[in-house]
Amino acid sequence: ASMNATTFVNQVIDRFEMATKKQDIQFKRKIPDKSIPVLGDRDKLTQLLDNILSNSVKYSPEGGTITCTLKIEKSRIIISVKDEGVGIPKENLSHVFDRFYRVDKARSRNLGGTGLGLAIAKEIAIAHGGDIWVSSEWGKGTTFSFSLPYEEDGVMDDA
Ligand code: ATP
Ligand code: MG
Repeated sequence: ASMNATTFVNQVIDRFEMATKKQDIQFKRKIPDKSIPVLGDRDKLTQLLDNILSNSVKYSPEGGTITCTLKIEKSRIIISVKDEGVGIPKENLSHVFDRFYRVDKARSRNLGGTGLGLAIAKEIAIAHGGDIWVSSEWGKGTTFSFSLPYEEDGVMDDA
């Protein structure tokens, strides 16, 4: 069965919102107020969104805003997470989905992690017939987006 992408995204953000209160990060949602059926493995998609959101929190300044957007575009849905963090230099952008790749070795080591989060996120997006991409401006912020096939007439088990 399909699942409702709207509920799914809201629930994942709810969890991050509670967990990151301390860092004073604001979550902004641009999510339609209606059911959007997508076909997918809920646990895997949760891991995908978790990996992206945890990066945006990790690389955000205190008090930064993280904007989560969900929209339908033709036959796919697009979920985006935009932060106001350090950003990623242009020359590094094409590598961020590589396994064990980390942009700033020293900074990344301080913040912890292995450099696998985005490689896993990409694997999951591709396995669902979707895609994942990034745009970023050094010093201004980063937006990670992924797409999933939109099941226009999908029957949801959680609508
Ligand atoms: P792990 O996810 O395994 O804990 P990680 O976060 O370092 O470790 P990835 O999630 O794969 O690894 O990210 C790869 C690298 O891309 C990061 O080390 C960081 O340099 C850069 N990066 C990822 N997301 C962002 C972001 N939102 N803003 C700035 N840099 C980012
Ligand atoms: Mg990560």
